[in-house]
Amino acid sequence: MSNRTFTMIKPDATSKGYTGAILDQIIKAGFQVKAMKWIKLSEEQAGLFYDIHRERPFFGELVSFMSSGPIVAAILEKENAVADFRKLIGATNPAQAEEGTIRKKFAASIGENAVHGSDSDENAIIEGDFFFSKLERF
Ligand code: ATP
Ligand code: MG
Repeated sequence: MSNRTFTMIKPDATSKGYTGAILDQIIKAGFQVKAMKWIKLSEEQAGLFYDIHRERPFFGELVSFMSSGPIVAAILEKENAVADFRKLIGATNPAQAEEGTIRKKFAASIGENAVHGSDSDENAIIEGDFFFSKLERF
């Protein structure tokens, strides 16, 4: 069990002005920000990030959505970070997300679902390394 996870606030949420409210909920839930940037991915970069989904039917849609506007990328620290963060954001499909979760409150659909959260300690490290150099994390 590691104490770090990686998140993105996705383009649907940044464009609707939810960035501040989402960060507030993350910090109030006990996560500390260890690295953060406001950045727009190219289609190629979004495709590399979601490479494990390359063969899935929604891959094209996912890559075009994730490169459609700016995102906030961040490394977060808390005890049991990966599992606790997945609980805080709720199910992939906001219609199935628990009341009070970030996706329930801020996501519109399974595709445009407001936030990303790493699904394992191993992927949290890979994803954090994708966005941040050693100089950018504390
Ligand atoms: P994320 O990895 O973004 O935190 P997740 O782990 O809950 O989400 P994954 O199965 O890893 O879900 O899917 C990655 C992303 O692909 C989802 O967050 C969503 O944006 C998109 N996605 C997943 N399933 C679908 C689908 N059926 N239709 C459209 N987009 C989808
Ligand atoms: Mg995932």
